[in-house]
Amino acid sequence: MYFCTYFFNNLNFSKLSTTRYIFVTGGVTSSLGKGIISASLAKLLQARGFSVTIQKLDPYLNVDPGTLNPYEHGECFVTDDGAETDLDLGHYERFLNVPTSQGNNVTTGRIYKSVIEKERKGDFLGKTVQIIPHITDEIKRRIKLLGTKNKYDFVITEIGGTVGDIESLPYIETVRQLKWELGQSVLVIHLTLVPYLSASGELKTKPTQHSVKSLLEAGVQPDVLVLRTERELTEDIRAKVALFCNVNIKNVIQSIDVSTIYEVPVKMQDEGLDKVVLEKFGLPVGKNPELKAWKNFLNKYKNPEKVVDIALIGKYVELQDAYKSIAESFVHAGAVNNCKVKLHWIHSESINKKNIDETLKEIKGIVVAPGFGHRGMEGKIMAVKYARENNIPFFGICLGMQAAVIEFARNVLNHAKANSSEMDEKTPYPVIDIMEEQKTILEKGGTMRLGAYPCIITKNSKAYEAYGKEHTEERHRHRYEFNNKFTDEFIKAGMVPVGMNPETNLVEIVEIPSHKWFVGVQFHPEYKSTVINPHPLFVSFVKATLEP
Ligand code: GLN
Repeated sequence: MYFCTYFFNNLNFSKLSTTRYIFVTGGVTSSLGKGIISASLAKLLQARGFSVTIQKLDPYLNVDPGTLNPYEHGECFVTDDGAETDLDLGHYERFLNVPTSQGNNVTTGRIYKSVIEKERKGDFLGKTVQIIPHITDEIKRRIKLLGTKNKYDFVITEIGGTVGDIESLPYIETVRQLKWELGQSVLVIHLTLVPYLSASGELKTKPTQHSVKSLLEAGVQPDVLVLRTERELTEDIRAKVALFCNVNIKNVIQSIDVSTIYEVPVKMQDEGLDKVVLEKFGLPVGKNPELKAWKNFLNKYKNPEKVVDIALIGKYVELQDAYKSIAESFVHAGAVNNCKVKLHWIHSESINKKNIDETLKEIKGIVVAPGFGHRGMEGKIMAVKYARENNIPFFGICLGMQAAVIEFARNVLNHAKANSSEMDEKTPYPVIDIMEEQKTILEKGGTMRLGAYPCIITKNSKAYEAYGKEHTEERHRHRYEFNNKFTDEFIKAGMVPVGMNPETNLVEIVEIPSHKWFVGVQFHPEYKSTVINPHPLFVSFVKATLEP
């Protein structure tokens, strides 16, 4: 069994002698699902026994998305090595069940930063530093590094943005150069939209033709076109696109709207996307892999036996992408429990004493989400109180766990002014306090406690029941922590730390043993939930919400 898990997590053996590079570009509009197409293709190649990784190149100037407000860019996904990355990396991990790292997400800011640092060191020996070749060389270096370091069979590189954007030009130019340099080892997939005009009842290919033209202007001929569409494409439409875009008709792939992203790999297999790619590389195709575990999950997900209502209390709920990994973790955990988790997105600022009973009365489980700053904090604390007093399963994640600790201190330990020093620097009861090593840090970018840290779990706890083991590693992204000065007081009153970092003694998990299911975690379990390995805490929480 151990070998099995190890094997799943380390699919790094290669079948091919050289790495093949696949680029995925997008045209016509953004949000067509390049990330899902990339992840689906990766899944299909992985199911054929190849080692695959996916990389995202983001054209913005931030060094990483860590400093971006979630309203700007959705969730910031954290990897084991502590990189703050684009949320597409979450999809890659959930589909492939293989961890990603800093190397899998590169931004223009990061590229320029390293080129400028080299320039300051004098590494360019007096040369004029330019976009071509210096910036494009640095982009190439980072793409190739991912392939050679881990000897992957395939590196799929998704280029953010839409062709024609000023910001993505250096990336498209890099693809042109790599196609020229590596020839047969490079392939370009271009994803576009074929809109349906209801007035004339027609699907339109002109936007696709135009966007392929802009790729051609940049010197890149796509090898495969994936056409996003609401309606089935006819043979005529495919033939037209093939003719206008110099692409074999077999390489025109339909990507029709589906009810769940997890269906896309199956649809792509039906359309033969992986076959077309292998043929184009001159590699043997063989039989279609069965995707048994995947289809089994899909079947359970699409045919739930029951529905359970769970409230997600957060302050960025207007943009559900801000909690992408949490939402997906509930998809995985729901399927394991043969149920559909219906998430009720509740704005923490909208909760008050008057409406809380009404707002949460049909709810079977309460999650308090991660977050930063004091806005909405009191609503979160009220939601914890409601869950604790009404014996409703409660799951607090990062700031959610901190809210649980504050609520307990105020209402059970009777320290009415208890708080986190993040919310109130002068609180007489800083039950959540800034970590010692954070006190002197001034820069905001990449300076939190980030990435995977070990956690030892106490037996006889809900967490131990869920994990079935004493040792785990979970990913972090925070500056504040449970204040150990108050540990004894909490334990005596019934809130117990049951997960600890063995080296630093930081509290990782708290529970109320007398409650039906009340668990707060300082880490982010949602980053590690995948289709094949749903996260045990989410599975256990959902199970508790189903119990009478
Ligand atoms: N703001 C809190 C901290 O920095 C919680 C962070 C989070 O929820 N990710 O500790």
